Amino acid sequence: MKSAMKATKSLSLLHTITKSIKASTRCISTSSNLLHNQYESIPKEKVDCVVIGAGIVGIAIARELAMKHNREVLVVESGQTFGTVTSSRNSEVIHGGIYYPHNSLKALFCVRGRELLYGYCKERGIPHQQIGKLIVATLSEDIPKLDVLMTRGTENGVPGLRLLEGHEAMRLEPELRCLRALLSPASGIVDSHSLMLSLVGEAENHGATFSYNTTVIGGHFRGNHIQLLTSGSKSLENNTSSSLLPELILLPQVVVNSGGLAAPIIAKRFDGLDKRNVPSPCYARGCYFTLSNTRTPVFHHLIYPIPEVGGLGVHVTLDLNGQVKFGPDVEWIEGVDDISSFLNRFDYSVSGNRANHFYPAIRRYYPNLKDGSLEPGYAGIRPKLSGPRSDYVDFVIQIGYETNSEMVLPSKNLFRGEETHGVAGLINLFGIESPGLTSSLAIAEHITAEVMKSKIMR
Ligand SMILES: Cc1cc2nc3c(=O)[nH]c(=O)nc-3n(C[C@H](O)[C@H](O)[C@H](O)COP(=O)(O)OP(=O)(O)OC[C@H]3O[C@@H](n4cnc5c(N)ncnc54)[C@H](O)[C@@H]3O)c2cc1C
Repeated sequence: MKSAMKATKSLSLLHTITKSIKASTRCISTSSNLLHNQYESIPKEKVDCVVIGAGIVGIAIARELAMKHNREVLVVESGQTFGTVTSSRNSEVIHGGIYYPHNSLKALFCVRGRELLYGYCKERGIPHQQIGKLIVATLSEDIPKLDVLMTRGTENGVPGLRLLEGHEAMRLEPELRCLRALLSPASGIVDSHSLMLSLVGEAENHGATFSYNTTVIGGHFRGNHIQLLTSGSKSLENNTSSSLLPELILLPQVVVNSGGLAAPIIAKRFDGLDKRNVPSPCYARGCYFTLSNTRTPVFHHLIYPIPEVGGLGVHVTLDLNGQVKFGPDVEWIEGVDDISSFLNRFDYSVSGNRANHFYPAIRRYYPNLKDGSLEPGYAGIRPKLSGPRSDYVDFVIQIGYETNSEMVLPSKNLFRGEETHGVAGLINLFGIESPGLTSSLAIAEHITAEVMKSKIMR
């Protein structure tokens, strides 16, 4: 835990330019035919693995590569520190793995990730609680949907699932009103900031470097040669143009694009990657409201309604201090231009007016909710690959070499759960929405195994 609590270094990569120039043996010749003339004067630095994005997924991958496989890792993060985007704007729920189609990446990684996460939190003393979850049917037409979830969760290997009659569920939670419920004892909550802090500390202790305030603005991929173009985030702040100039060029063996909301836009800026391999992003905002004036928590379990299109429904979640939160709702965001998405210019404000549709949604299962008791909380944006009228889309993991992965996945979608794109050394992670937090350690385990298998890494 000591290492976990170690304060993280906020190192700006651009301040290491001097270091990179001095380390002349590590710099490649600017006369390389790979280089565009316009980049000749720009400093370059070789590095083994670059992870784009210090969200929970990028951090977990960096830690796994550095700590378990002794790789040299540089994490490039456009924000001022780690985990300031989706990884700190979520429900902090450790999901059981109930909702996702059998054998989908979401199901496989959620179930494996949950086990790894509980183990990690116990070992490292990360605050968490396995409080369990009730998915509730409040209308008779919802009852068959609980049966479907029960079957799906059981197929996915979620332990301990049990269908409860309404009176049994209401005995567990006296403020709850429902006809039936599905109990998932494996579900829980975690302090995601402590989790990320611990993972960053371990990654750094094993030599990984986190370069904050540094944005990847594009890349060139030719054969086995990669150039990753980076710039100081500050110099991009007022930019409205899509032609951005790099200040430092990285020459990695492997690049993991774990840029969350921006991952598809980053990939579109990779010269050499067929753009048909890049799915179009869709975004759905989710707002939270907190319950005011409650000394003792009204609920002790997570309470979820039947899932809706785009989300899991306005649910009850608790943080580790017992604060009750309701959310997230689903608000589709249309017309986000590439540069706004790329530079994270999303609106994260929560308008008090949104409470108007929270009250009726919550009162379906919590009729005693008092008028005026909801206060605006925070919002997060879901990095989706499908819109309101599309079918389920899995996590998409694209690996840039012929992989012998044993994880063979069926899929009905254009973008399969896992696929190759033929650009050696590049791994793209797209659509890492919920249950991405729960899945993070399992995704890291899988990506790292693939990196270690790769011929280009030998
Ligand atoms: C409302 C909501 C509720 C959720 N609830 C849950 C839950 O209860 N349980 C659960 O398991 N999951 C949940 N999730 C999902 C979970 O939060 C995400 O799957 C997870 O945080 C994704 O992590 P990430 O590292 O992929 O992305 P992020 O946390 O977004 O990290 C990506 C990072 O990349 C950086 N970046 C972007 N572009 C660049 C660039 N060009 N150069 C350098 N850096 C860049 C960003 O600054 C960011 O820090 C929820 C998501 C939302 C939106």
